[in-house]
Amino acid sequence: MHHYPDASAVVRALSPDEPVILNRPHAAARAARFFTEKFPGKSLYAVKANPSPDLLQVLWASGVTHYDVASIAEVRLVREALPQAVLCFMHPVKPANAIAEAYKVHGVRTFSLDSHEELAKIVKATAGDDGTPAADLRLCVRLRVSSEYSELSLASKFGIDLADAGELLQATRQVADWLGVCFHVGSQAMTPFAYVQAIERVRAAIVDAAVTVDIVDVGGGFPSIYPGMEPPPLEDYFDVIGRAFESLPVSYSSELWCEPGRALCAEYNSMIVRVEKRRGDELYINDGAYGALYDAAHVGWRFPVKSLAERSGAEESTYAFYGPTCDDADYMEGPFALPSDVQPGDYIEVGMLGAYGAAMKTRFNGFGSTGVVEVSDEPMSSLYRGDRQDPRKSDNVVSLR
Ligand SMILES: *Cc1c(COP(=O)(O)O)cnc(C)c1O
Repeated sequence: MHHYPDASAVVRALSPDEPVILNRPHAAARAARFFTEKFPGKSLYAVKANPSPDLLQVLWASGVTHYDVASIAEVRLVREALPQAVLCFMHPVKPANAIAEAYKVHGVRTFSLDSHEELAKIVKATAGDDGTPAADLRLCVRLRVSSEYSELSLASKFGIDLADAGELLQATRQVADWLGVCFHVGSQAMTPFAYVQAIERVRAAIVDAAVTVDIVDVGGGFPSIYPGMEPPPLEDYFDVIGRAFESLPVSYSSELWCEPGRALCAEYNSMIVRVEKRRGDELYINDGAYGALYDAAHVGWRFPVKSLAERSGAEESTYAFYGPTCDDADYMEGPFALPSDVQPGDYIEVGMLGAYGAAMKTRFNGFGSTGVVEVSDEPMSSLYRGDRQDPRKSDNVVSLR
């Protein structure tokens, strides 16, 4: 893979006609070390946020040993890239054949579930040819929790209600070697309190069921930084989660897990796009709703942007973007702040696209092909820089406080 100092160098060298994804392995490695060193338990990487095999290698080399996968294709992908990794199949609704292949071919032992039907399916799909039940299953019951503190809700689709959780926990305990309880507070949780509330629900569920628990998995939801979304330091999340976990009646005998997706990979990618047309304060660019800017279009996410044009002096203005397809929905409201003199042919760097950005690209309408290069400069923002003001201290992984 070609390597450049930064986005401007890429533009000077390539004048690219198509968008270019920039990889920053140093940023992903720093995020991974932060979690493996500071989270008071085990950190799994949630692969759906960005399944790039290059990224998987970076995370593995930085100490991430466990991977949260949600489909048989993700199981195969991670097993191929990282033969030694521990895979946890954390989608609560899985095809029986996917469970069987994961268990029998790829060595997966950890599965999540939120219903008696799924429990029966897992038990059947992992039994031996003579019907002997598997004795080494690690099963995590997913609780429904509130998403009220998160930018993107995950509260309606999965998770068993507290009122019904006791029976499912007891039934799961009967067949599981390890019993876990897991939840997801929603993505980009803007306060650590989201986890406290959810852990209180875990307490109620295990007290009600009177079962011993081997894993408490607080899921994903750890934030990154975007314009208008500056979360508190991640250490605050870790402190609060650690204390809430310690106060559970099962903490002496159980492991604490988390499953960050976004927080581990948001800083890994940015993208160079080109302005093809300007109409007032609307810029027609060559990536959009069907590309890496899916969230910018569909949920109004504001990614940071920077002009790569070599002019200076213009004051700042705000813009909306249109993507390249013929669909009116290929529109990103922003507002995105750029110099007032943007013109067709200018290149723009869009930052913080490592999570749910690079992974979302489609080929709709003949667009979507992209170059990929590596760069060594800092991401546009970082939760992991010791001193956010001074980029020269960029390899400093110490506390933000
Ligand atoms: C998507 C997902 C994650 C990762 O969520 P982030 O908000 O990206 O941290 C973790 N666990 C499960 C079960 C998920 O579905």
